[in-house]
Amino acid sequence: MFPDAPTWLGVWEQGQRATPLQRALLILQALAPDASWHELCRLPLGERDARLLAAREALFGPRLEALARCPACGEALEVGLRVADLRLGQGPAPQTVEHGDYRLTLRPLDSLDLASALGSPDPARTLTLRAVEEASHQGRSVEGAQLPPEVLDAVAHHLPETDPQADLLLRLSCPACRHAWAAPFDPLAFLWSELNAWALRTLAEVHRLASAYGWREGDILALSPARRQLYLGMVGP
Ligand SMILES: [Zn+2]
Repeated sequence: MFPDAPTWLGVWEQGQRATPLQRALLILQALAPDASWHELCRLPLGERDARLLAAREALFGPRLEALARCPACGEALEVGLRVADLRLGQGPAPQTVEHGDYRLTLRPLDSLDLASALGSPDPARTLTLRAVEEASHQGRSVEGAQLPPEVLDAVAHHLPETDPQADLLLRLSCPACRHAWAAPFDPLAFLWSELNAWALRTLAEVHRLASAYGWREGDILALSPARRQLYLGMVGP
């Protein structure tokens, strides 16, 4: 069952003191209450983001509007897209990469990898090393930490192929100067800012109805959106 309004308000409230990484997990937990926290942490980031996009669609509809700025001329543009277009339908897949005499198996990253990278002095290197599941040189197994820098560069280059959904890029072009570029899209940041606006709006509505009628928060949240708007209209501005 899709989470109700009180559940989303709870997610929002807990998320106030949380890191973005934890916010994503709080949303996943609301969507899948029976899953353990560890299971959710181990979901590949592309699967995590696909679930966030599905939640966004269920909460706020199939279309979204994003703002972007042309890096060439500075023109501000509004980008309208469908959430469905952001779902690539490509699941995670380990990749084998050969670089010189090195042979590497890469796996998709998950939230535990991100958490570990965020706590490390060199997050990009930590992520790259964690993605290396197996490495060998001329047929003999080597530790990730022993890989030379150019091999790690190759790993970083091929890493998005293990999980395309985790690296969403919007192909944009500027109507003013025709410059074309690719901008990263972060489903979590987008959904969280919408969730924040929704929570503030909802609590303001609860405040107005509670003040006017003396109803309790739970009762007001249980009203259908249409009925709540009707009562708000009767209460007046
Ligand atoms: Zn431009």
